[in-house]
Amino acid sequence: MRRVSILGATGSIGQNTIDLIDRAPGAYDVVALTGGRNIAQLARDAIRLKADVAVTAHNECLDDLRDALLGTGVEAAAGQGALVEAASRPADWVMSAIVGAAGLPPGLAAIQQGATLALANKETLVAAGPLVMRSAYQSGSTVLPVDSEHSAVFQALGGEAMTSVERVILTASGGAFRDWPIEKLHSATPEQASTHPNWDMGQRITIDSASMFNKALEVIEAKEFFALRPDQIEVLIHPESMIHAIVGHVDGGMMAHLGAPDMRHAIGYALHWPDRAHLPVERLDLAKLGQLTFRAADTTRYPALALATRVMERGGMAGAAFNAAKERALDAFIGGHIKFTEMAEVVARVLDVLEADLGHIEAVFDLDNILKMDHLAREEADRVMARAL
Ligand code: NDP
Repeated sequence: MRRVSILGATGSIGQNTIDLIDRAPGAYDVVALTGGRNIAQLARDAIRLKADVAVTAHNECLDDLRDALLGTGVEAAAGQGALVEAASRPADWVMSAIVGAAGLPPGLAAIQQGATLALANKETLVAAGPLVMRSAYQSGSTVLPVDSEHSAVFQALGGEAMTSVERVILTASGGAFRDWPIEKLHSATPEQASTHPNWDMGQRITIDSASMFNKALEVIEAKEFFALRPDQIEVLIHPESMIHAIVGHVDGGMMAHLGAPDMRHAIGYALHWPDRAHLPVERLDLAKLGQLTFRAADTTRYPALALATRVMERGGMAGAAFNAAKERALDAFIGGHIKFTEMAEVVARVLDVLEADLGHIEAVFDLDNILKMDHLAREEADRVMARAL
C-alpha cells in the first residue's frame, strides 16, 4: 500500500485529493491529514481514511479535535510544530495543499524526509524556490507540480530537454473582472471577487485570480520549477480555461495541454505519475466548444503581473516579501479595509521599502531568513496600509 499524507486536507485541493483516494479502496495507507479550523471535516476524513494522525494548525482547536477523535485510534495534534512533525512522518507521497506561506515549513519537511511532494502550494516555490529545489536534490525527493498550468507544462514537455524550450505560455481566465471597465475595478467587493468564471477553488486563490496575483505567483513558480529566465515566461488570457499551458520550442513547434477545468486531473496526474490512470474528469468535446479564444494580458488592468517580473529580476528574498505582502493585502481586502485595486499598491510599496535594504533581500537563503523576511514584509504591509491608505 502506498503511504500518503495530505497537508491542507480540508481545503479545495485537499478534498479533491481525498475524492481520488476514496475511489481506490485499499490502495492507500493514510499517514497524516492536516487542516485548520474545519475540525468536523478533518476528523470525519481522518476516521474514515484511518489516518495515523490528524493535525489542526491552531492550538485553540485541539480540544475539539481530541473530542471528535476520542476512541477512534486516530492521534490528534495541533500547532505549527505538529504540522512539521506530521509532514516528517515517513510517507511515499505527500500533497502540499495548505494555503499561503504557512505551507512552506511542512512542505519542506516532507521533502527532507524524501517523500514525493505533490505541490499545490505555489507560495512554497515563490518564497523559497532555490531552497526547495536544493533540499529535494539532497534528499532524493521528487517534486511534482499540481498547479494546473505547471502540471500542463510538465506534461507538454514530456521529458524533453529544457534546452529545447524557447518559451512557456501560462494561460489565465482573466478572473471575475476580466470584462469590467478598468475604472470600475476599485469598487469590486470581496464577494464579487470570490466568484471564478471557470474554476471552483478556495476563496483566497479565487480572489487572487481576479487580481491576477495568482498568475503572478504562478509566473514566479514556473521560473523556479522549470529553471526558466523571466523573459521566457508569458501570460495569455484564455477565457475558456481549456488550454492550461503551452510550451514553445526552439524550432517553432508549440505543445499545448488541454483539459476540462477540474483540479482532479492535475492532482491525479501527480498521484499516479509516472503512469497515467483513469480519472473521473469531464472529457472535452471540442466540436461542441466550437472555438477557443485568446487575448493579451494587460499590465494596466493587472499590475500584479508587472510586480512578478520585478520580483524575478530582483531575486533573493524578493519572492518571500512579495508573497507575504500580497497575503496581508488580501487579508485587508477580504476584511473590507482596502479596495481591490489597492492590493497591488500595497505590495509595490512594501517592495520599495524592502528592496532599498540589500541586507534584507540578499540575506543567506535559508528557511530562517525566509521566514524572517515573510514576517518583515507583513509588518511593512501593515505599516503601509495604516499610513497611506
Ligand atoms: P483552501 O482555502 O480551500 O484550503 C486551504 C487548506 O489549508 C485548508 O485545509 C485549511 O484548513 C488549511 N489552512 C488554512 N490556513 C492554514 C494555516 N495557517 N496553517 C495550516 N493550514 C492552514 O485552499 P485551496 O485548496 O484552494 O488552495 C490550497 C493551495 O493550493 C494554495 O496554495 C493554492 O494557491 C493552491 N492551488 C489551489 C487550486 C485550487 O483549485 N483550489 C489550484 C492550484 C493551486 P481549514 O479549511 O480547515 O481552515
